[in-house]
Amino acid sequence: MGTRIHTQFWTDQESISEPTFKGIKQEIDRIEQKMSVYIDSSELSLVNREAYKQPVIVSPELFHLLEKALHFSKITHGAFDITFASIGHFYDYRKGIHPSSKKVDQLLPAINYHWVELNQKNLTVRFKHKNVKIDLGGIAKGYAIDQAAQQFKKRGITSAYLSAGGDTLLIGDRRGRPWMVGIKDPRNEKANAVVIPLENTALSTSGDYERYFIERGKRYHHIISPKTGHSADKVQSVSIIGPNATTTDALSTSIFVLGSKKGLALIEKLEKIDAIIIDNNRKMYYSSNLQAPSVLSPSKK
Ligand code: AMP
Ligand code: MG
Repeated sequence: MGTRIHTQFWTDQESISEPTFKGIKQEIDRIEQKMSVYIDSSELSLVNREAYKQPVIVSPELFHLLEKALHFSKITHGAFDITFASIGHFYDYRKGIHPSSKKVDQLLPAINYHWVELNQKNLTVRFKHKNVKIDLGGIAKGYAIDQAAQQFKKRGITSAYLSAGGDTLLIGDRRGRPWMVGIKDPRNEKANAVVIPLENTALSTSGDYERYFIERGKRYHHIISPKTGHSADKVQSVSIIGPNATTTDALSTSIFVLGSKKGLALIEKLEKIDAIIIDNNRKMYYSSNLQAPSVLSPSKK
């Protein structure tokens, strides 16, 4: 997936550590082979090639993740949209290439999650617009680490850290203390904006510094606003804390698109989800559960 995987875990049986590492790597590789747009033989590439011509039968696993992706599109009012790729695929961040404004305007109608039709009975995917392409880059890494975490559970490991790029899963605590997890300063890669204690939870960060280039003072990066077809430019970084990494991954990308005001309004409505947002003026916003009360509630005595 083009990212490094980090893990830390405790076990008193040395013999299980090697198979755990191996199992994690295999599981993440397996999911990448299935869902990457950069691998021609992946199921997702097949869908992108064929689904406008005819309904494509997919594995239950891919089908369920597509269902989840559409669920996040609905609850974020289209901020999360895997059809962003209809334009997103014309970027090459390493080479500094972006689509022309004309191309963006021409392809913008193809970005609409309603063009992705799932048939539950037949496990098929069909595109209802000829220029639609999909990409699971905003949710698949979180999904992969959720799946890979089974490797800890099945070996009875109850204290573990697993991260891939901006997505982190924390199982239990760090032997009696919380895990201390840093959220990067979006404009200084060597510094953290904040370090927070966490246990038994997932944390995902989406930032405009992950994959980007700057041309004539303008930052082109990998999170695309489905409304404009251009890089979302309301904030610099969004971190989401929630029960699993699939959810936090999808929501960090979504809230990045929505910006601080609409983003926080949505987070406040969702149960068991918190957010830390850094806007373009480097102002930090915390969802209400994370804010320290300025006055303590009266004691009961
Ligand atoms: P993340 O770093 O988790 O926020 O994911 C960024 C990735 O999500 C990008 O590299 C794209 O593959 C994908 N992506 C970009 N824009 C969107 C969007 N509006 N909805 C869903 N996925 C997106
Ligand atoms: Mg994400």
